[in-house]
Amino acid sequence: MRLTPYGAAKTVTGSCHLVEYQNYRLLLDCGAYQGSEDDRNNEPFGFEPATIDAVVISHAHHDHIGRLPLLIRRGYKGRVYTTRPTQLFLPVILEDSLHLMSEERDRLVRKGKQPPPLNWDEADLRELYTRLEVIPLEQSLEFGPFQVRLGDAGHLPGSAFIEVRAGGKRLVFSGDLGHGAKEVLPDPKDAAPADLALCEGTYGDRSHRPFPETIAEFAHILSETLGKGGKVFIPSFALERTQEILFYLRDLEEKRQIPSVPVFVDSPMASRISDIYPSVREYFSEEVQALYRQGRDPFRPRGLEYTQSVEDSKALNELEGPLVIIAGSGMLAGGRILHHLRHGLPEENNALVIIGYQPRGGLGRLLIEGAQRVRMFGEDVPVRARTHTLGGFSGHAGQDELLRWLQGEQRVALVHGEADKLEILRQKLEQRNTRAFLAEWGQAIEI
Ligand SMILES: [Zn+2]
Repeated sequence: MRLTPYGAAKTVTGSCHLVEYQNYRLLLDCGAYQGSEDDRNNEPFGFEPATIDAVVISHAHHDHIGRLPLLIRRGYKGRVYTTRPTQLFLPVILEDSLHLMSEERDRLVRKGKQPPPLNWDEADLRELYTRLEVIPLEQSLEFGPFQVRLGDAGHLPGSAFIEVRAGGKRLVFSGDLGHGAKEVLPDPKDAAPADLALCEGTYGDRSHRPFPETIAEFAHILSETLGKGGKVFIPSFALERTQEILFYLRDLEEKRQIPSVPVFVDSPMASRISDIYPSVREYFSEEVQALYRQGRDPFRPRGLEYTQSVEDSKALNELEGPLVIIAGSGMLAGGRILHHLRHGLPEENNALVIIGYQPRGGLGRLLIEGAQRVRMFGEDVPVRARTHTLGGFSGHAGQDELLRWLQGEQRVALVHGEADKLEILRQKLEQRNTRAFLAEWGQAIEI
């Protein structure tokens, strides 16, 4: 068996790996590059899409599915296999991505510039939808000479690690591994030791602090801010993170650790995702499933409302606190959250709670660093609201969890992490006599 990474090599995005055995070619993930690397999405894949026999997807994040429409446009003829939740989330993620690409084109046209041709369009997306094929977790399936099995990775509902066997050898690809201490999703399942483990290392350099500490701090910020009539702004990803915040808002409200206040999810995309949740309830933790069995919605604090239209979103600015607003984008790179911050940052009773990664030089990072004024929509906005950072909500396994998951492995190739973080994880693995190396783009690994 031969494995060749064509993405997420010494970087966190663009997950895409080719596995070959006897003329059969299996692709694991086909993700987009994001952030400062997104121009790499226009480049050749490194392999000929028409020669791929089957594609298996680990989970629905954009950096694991984002180049599927392009793969089809460039000649892929086969089917795309994944779990049912991933199949249901995929259109929400990719339609949003198409919408953002179109907006960017319109912006360039308005500036009198010639926009580059779209990488892929609606027709490619429609074609992709006809190719999707659901496979269950834990069942062994045959793809040519390969036997493939998906195990629960605990990172999103229906997220999977992928075991591939052929010619007496076994490969396990971690996909993205979840942060086990959190309560919404099951812990990542163990994989059987393999001849090669291809493993993510997003948090290869450090472990998360105990999760109950994160929740206690979250409760403290909420009760303090809401208690004085303030507004709490939470920039969040639409898929999973938003619903997880709702889960804890409901839980803290029930335990009377925070007051019952209006909670607005100002994101049509998050609303679509939340609508899918009840239909995939068997992919959640026991605790969440038990709440569903009692006829309750685990993701609904009492004062919850979803806003859809731009008018409704703007109307939120007129409301008095106390209230909570959750909106995208999670990285403050655009989206409705910016309008709420323009109105809310000058008020000292308000709070901004950062729960996700903020890129260097971005608005979120400036606020975390204590900026007194920020530039938004061409205006100077004074910052009097407090900014809090809660790193513990990460959806990825910390270093200790990665090392535990890799217990028993003899040979590990590291991907999906910044090179310096992967290097720290590599040294940890070497210290316990596991052979480990950083995978390189386009360099084949024999198994
Ligand atoms: Zn992911």
